[in-house]
Amino acid sequence: MATIPWLVDVLRGAGVQVVVEGDWLNRMRPGSFDPIGVLWHHTASTSSATNPHPALNICINGRPDLAGPLCQALVDYHGVFHVISAGRCNHAGASGGSGPIPAGDGNTMLIGWEIDYNGVNQEMTAAQYAASVAATAAVLTRLGRDASYARGHRETSTTGKIDPSFIDLNVMRADVAAKMGGSPAWSSIVDNATAGRFTASASWGVSSFSGQRYGADYRYADPVAASDPAWYRFNVPAAGNYRVDAWWPANAGYNSAAPYIIATTTGNRTVSVDQRATGGQWRTLGTFALPAGDANRVAVSRWTTAAGLVIADAVRLTRV
Ligand SMILES: [Zn+2]
Repeated sequence: MATIPWLVDVLRGAGVQVVVEGDWLNRMRPGSFDPIGVLWHHTASTSSATNPHPALNICINGRPDLAGPLCQALVDYHGVFHVISAGRCNHAGASGGSGPIPAGDGNTMLIGWEIDYNGVNQEMTAAQYAASVAATAAVLTRLGRDASYARGHRETSTTGKIDPSFIDLNVMRADVAAKMGGSPAWSSIVDNATAGRFTASASWGVSSFSGQRYGADYRYADPVAASDPAWYRFNVPAAGNYRVDAWWPANAGYNSAAPYIIATTTGNRTVSVDQRATGGQWRTLGTFALPAGDANRVAVSRWTTAAGLVIADAVRLTRV
């Protein structure tokens, strides 16, 4: 995909107010553009009801150190989307990897909203938030991606960006998911980097080698005939049936029969997967009955006779 000429129609179809800013179909940076997600920013400019889009000119034309356009759309104080570009823009810089967005060229992979507020002593307005959620849901639906492909610049940045300030990005994704699918089933992702929810011994190394990883890195260990699992802890809201999905980066040197252990209401169940293949995506291990409560629910075990490094990256539970 070289451009997204459908952007204005998709936004209007979602009930978002749109102002088309000049020759948006042909205003873009040279280079590749093949978006898989949406990135939220704040402009760091102070907007108001009487000065609703102070950063619009800079977002269209750029600044001395960075050529414009600087985003596909600017979201003004009233929640109006000013559509600037149907192509590649200088908004994301390098991605360090966040959720399903891999490390790489953020301007190739991401459509950017610059939400016009200062982010230091000014929050996003309610109108900006509502319009940005609606726009993100509509664009991700068009791209065929789920709400996890909505990220904040502070999540993908490799240079310490803080935007967008004053919003919880997990709540944002839940709001986008709700907009996309009515009321979605309970679902939770634990990555090896999720604070307080992943435990593994020091025998598990940290790697960011594979671009198929979930988030910034993953853990790896040699197979061993001993118990040394990496555990994923979930707060299961109610006893019931849950689909368990796992994400691993694949590599010829990884394990051909890596055991995932699921702690069900009727004891541990083991599902082995081939981590040499089908990496960089959610793979379903099965549906299992789980008890309610906050506890270690899924593990990756090193105890396998198969050769190759055992990988522990991300696990997702979804109520079915
Ligand atoms: Zn930014």
